[in-house]
Amino acid sequence: MARHPGATPVMAQFLDMKAAHPDSLLFFRMGDFYELFFEDAVKAAGALGIALTKRGTHQGEPIPMCGVPIHNAERYLNDLIRAGFRVALAEQVEDPAEAKKRGSKAVVAREVLRLYTPGTLVEDTLLETARHNYLAAWAPGRNGDAGGLAWTDMSTGRLSARACSREALPELLARLSPAELVLAAPADAGAEALAREVGAAVAEVAPASFQPAQGALRTAGLFGAATLAPYGDFSDAEAGALGALIGYLELTQKGDLPLLQPPRREAPDAGMAIDPATRRNLELTESLSGGRDGALLSVIDRTQTAAGARLLADRASAPVTDLEEIRARQDAVALFLEAPSLRTRVREILAGAPDLARALSRIGLGRHGPRDLKALANGLRAAEAIGTALAATGAEGLGGDPAAERLADGLSGHQELIEAYERALAEDPPFRLSDGGAIRDGCDADLDEARRLRDRARQVIAERQARHAEETGISALKIKHNNVLGYFIETPATHARKMMNPPWDERFIHRQTTANAVRFTTVELSELEAKIARAGDRAAEREKAICDALAEAARGRAREISAAAEALAAIDVAAGLAELAEREDWTRPVVEASRAFEIEAGRHPVVEAALRKAGEAPFVANDCDLSAAPEEGGPCEGDPLEGSAARPIWLITGPNMAGKSTYLRQNALIAVLAQMGSFVPAARARIGVVDRLFSRVGAADDLARGRSTFMVEMVETATILNQAGPRSLVILDEIGRGTATYDGLSIAWATLEHLHDVNRCRGLFATHYHELTALAGRLAGLKTATVAVREWKGEVVFLREIQPGAADRSYGVQVARLAGMPPAVVARARTLLDMLEQGDAGPAARAAKLVADLPLFAAASAPEPAAADPLRDALDAFDPDAMTPREALEALYALKEAAASEDERA
Ligand code: ATP
Repeated sequence: MARHPGATPVMAQFLDMKAAHPDSLLFFRMGDFYELFFEDAVKAAGALGIALTKRGTHQGEPIPMCGVPIHNAERYLNDLIRAGFRVALAEQVEDPAEAKKRGSKAVVAREVLRLYTPGTLVEDTLLETARHNYLAAWAPGRNGDAGGLAWTDMSTGRLSARACSREALPELLARLSPAELVLAAPADAGAEALAREVGAAVAEVAPASFQPAQGALRTAGLFGAATLAPYGDFSDAEAGALGALIGYLELTQKGDLPLLQPPRREAPDAGMAIDPATRRNLELTESLSGGRDGALLSVIDRTQTAAGARLLADRASAPVTDLEEIRARQDAVALFLEAPSLRTRVREILAGAPDLARALSRIGLGRHGPRDLKALANGLRAAEAIGTALAATGAEGLGGDPAAERLADGLSGHQELIEAYERALAEDPPFRLSDGGAIRDGCDADLDEARRLRDRARQVIAERQARHAEETGISALKIKHNNVLGYFIETPATHARKMMNPPWDERFIHRQTTANAVRFTTVELSELEAKIARAGDRAAEREKAICDALAEAARGRAREISAAAEALAAIDVAAGLAELAEREDWTRPVVEASRAFEIEAGRHPVVEAALRKAGEAPFVANDCDLSAAPEEGGPCEGDPLEGSAARPIWLITGPNMAGKSTYLRQNALIAVLAQMGSFVPAARARIGVVDRLFSRVGAADDLARGRSTFMVEMVETATILNQAGPRSLVILDEIGRGTATYDGLSIAWATLEHLHDVNRCRGLFATHYHELTALAGRLAGLKTATVAVREWKGEVVFLREIQPGAADRSYGVQVARLAGMPPAVVARARTLLDMLEQGDAGPAARAAKLVADLPLFAAASAPEPAAADPLRDALDAFDPDAMTPREALEALYALKEAAASEDERA
C-alpha cells in the first residue's frame, strides 16, 4: 500500500493491476459491474458514450469512474475492441463473504484472468462469422536470412508459418489481413505502418520472446514433441515467430492456451504471389470502397456455413500454384456438379450445421456454454450424415469416386461422442450453464433426484401461497423471490396494517416495505428456501460436472473434431462452387504447367452480376489468348522456360467506356478463380500456372504516404517491371496517363518493350496511346486488339466485343457528352479536336498554333447560344387543349416529317 500513498485498499489493488497492464483498459469487477477508473474511465466513457461519474478521491482529486454491467459486458467489449482498445478483465476470485472473514476492511481478491485483444478473441459476439480472425507474429531475419511470419486463428486453432522477408511482408499481411500483429519491441516503424495499412493492431513484446530455440521448444512442446522437425523444416525466424505467437497467446489468455493444431509450414512459392496494390485493384475479397459488396468473393460465395465462407475467403485471397492441389479441389467441385442430388442433400445438411471449429475452440479454452456443447454434437452429427451421403455416391453412378473419398476423410468415427452428448444434453440448452436445464432429465440419477427435491419444494411454496392467501383472506398475497431477500411473502401495501397486527404478526415476520407492497417471511419459508437452495446447488453442481465431463471428452478428441470441421468447410466450399458453376454456367479450366492462357468466351463475374441485377443488357463474353506460339517454345507440361524470346502481350486500344478495364480484370480474375480451384466464367479455359499476378488498374492518390496519383502509378509499374517473370500474368491499364502526353507515351512505350523483351510475361496492356500499336510490327509477341464500337448519328454505340486490330480514336468527346458535360463545352471540344487532328505538326505545336490563330480560345467556357431546334419550336407552338383530334393527328404527322428531315441533315 505504501506504493500508493493515500489510496484506499481497493484503489491500491486497482493501481497495482493497472501498473501491470498499462496498455489495456482495466475492467475491474465490483459486484455486478465492471468498473473503470481514472484515464481508462475517461477513454471508455468517451468511446462507449456512457456516463462518466466520480467515486471518492485520490491524492485530493475526485476519481473519474464509469462502469458496465457484467451481464452485457460483451457488447461494450466489442465496441472497445473495434475502437482499437485492449481490455484486461480483472475478476473477483474469491467470494466477498470469504474476504469479510479476514476483517471488515479486507479487499476481495482479484486477478486479471484474460486480456481481450483484437487477435485473441473466441466469442461469437466479438467475431465476424464469415472471416478468419488472424493473430500474426513477425520475426525479421538475422544475418541476411529471410524473416518469418507465424499466424493463427485462435477461434479455430490452425497454426501456420512461412518465410517472410521485410520486402514480402506487405504482400503476406495484405493476404491474411490479420487483426493483430505481434512485433518485437521497439517495433520497427515501417512494420508498424504496414500493420496499420491492413487494419491490424500492433502488440509489442519483449524481443526475447522471438528467440528461435525457445520458440521451437515451446511450439513443439504443445504437441508433445521435442523439436519442430516432425511438422516441417522451419527456419529460425519461423520458429521465433511461432514462439512469440504462442507466448502472446499465453500472456493474453493468462496461461489457458487454445487448442492449437500442429504448425504447418507454408512453402514460400506455394501460392500465386499477389502484391497489395494488385489485390486492391482486383477487389478479390473487398471492393475498392472497402465493403464486401462488389468484390469477387461476394459473387462467388454460395457456402452454407460460416466455416465454409471463411475457407472460401482464404482460398480467394491465396490462389495456389500446386497443380495437384488445384486439380484435387476441381475434382471436388466436379463431384458435386455431376451429382446434383448429392449436392442438394449435402447443402441441406450444411445449412443446419453449427460452427464446429469455433465451438471446439471455446470448449478447448473452457470458455464455452451448454450451447457450444450442443453445437459440437450437432456439427459432428452433420459430419457423419455427410460422410454417409458421400459414401453412397455409388448410387449416383460415381461409385468409389476418389474425390468423394478424399472429402469424406475425417467425417466419420464420432458416433460414440455424439451419442454421449445427445444422451446428456437437453434439446435446447440454455446459453449459460448457470441458467440450469442444460442436461436432460433421465440422464443422471443424482441430478434427477436434486431436481425433484427442488421442484417439489417449489410446489410446496405454491401450495403455501394458496394457504396463506386463504387464511389471511388476502387473495393478492404472493410468494416471490429475489436475490436480496430470497423467498418472501408479499401483500399489497393496503393490507400492511392487517398483516402487522395480531394474530398475523406472530407468524409473518416483516422484512421490507416498498411503495406498493409489504414483504414478510416465516420460519417455514426460510427452511424451505434453504432446502430449495441446497437442492438447486446440487442440481447445478451435477449439471456442471456432467458438462465438464462432456467438454473433457471433446478435448480428448480435439484433433479428430478439428479434422471433421475442416472437412465440412472444404465440402461446403466445393458444393458451393459447384452450385455457382451450375447456376452461372461456369466451366472447369485446364490448369497446367505451361504458359498457356486461352480463354474462350470469358466473362467478368462481378460486372456480369451487376448488369443482371440492374436489368441491363447481358454481359458480352470475350476471348483471350496469351499462349506463346509453338515455335516460341509453346505450351506443354513441364515446359522449360529458356529458349523462348518473346511472350505474348495483347495491346488493347478502344474508346473510353468500351470495356477495356473490365476485360483486363476479367482475365486476371479467371486466373485467380482457376488457381483457387474453382470453375471459371468462360466457355473454355486453359491456363498455365501463374506464379505472380500483377495488375495496375486505375489511378489513386496515396496522399497519406505523400504520393501523388502519378507517383503511385509509377511505383506500382516499377514493382511490376522489377518482379514480373515468364510465368507471371501482368495487367496494365492506361500507364502514363497522369502526366504530359509525350512523357506518358514514352513511359508506356518503354514499359511495353521491357515487359516484352525482359520480363517475357503474359500480359494485357490497355492504352489510349494509339501510337503504341505501331510497335506490333517490331515486337514479335505483341498483338493488337480493340473493343468494337459503332457510330450512329454522331453517338458511339458500345458493342463490348474484343476484336483483333487497333482503334483509330478514343471517342472521348462523345463519352463526355454521355456523361452530361455542358453542351457548350462538348461542342467546343469537338471543334478543337478536329483542329488538333489536322496537319502534320505534333499536338503541342498544333495547340500552340491554335491558340495563336484563335483568339476565341479565351471564350471557350462561355456557353454558346443553343442551336435552333425546329422540333422543339413546333412542339412549343402546339396547344393540345385547343386542338381537335384531327388537328392533333396532323400535328403529329408534321412532327414526324420534321424529325425525318432533321435526320437527313445530320
Ligand atoms: P475507360 O477507358 O474510360 O477507362 P474502359 O474501356 O476501361 O473505359 P470499362 O470501365 O471496362 O471501360 O467499362 C465501362 C462499363 O461498360 C462497365 O462498367 C460495364 O458496365 C460495361 N461493360 C464493360 N464490359 C462489358 C461487357 N463485356 N459486356 C457488357 N457490358 C460491359
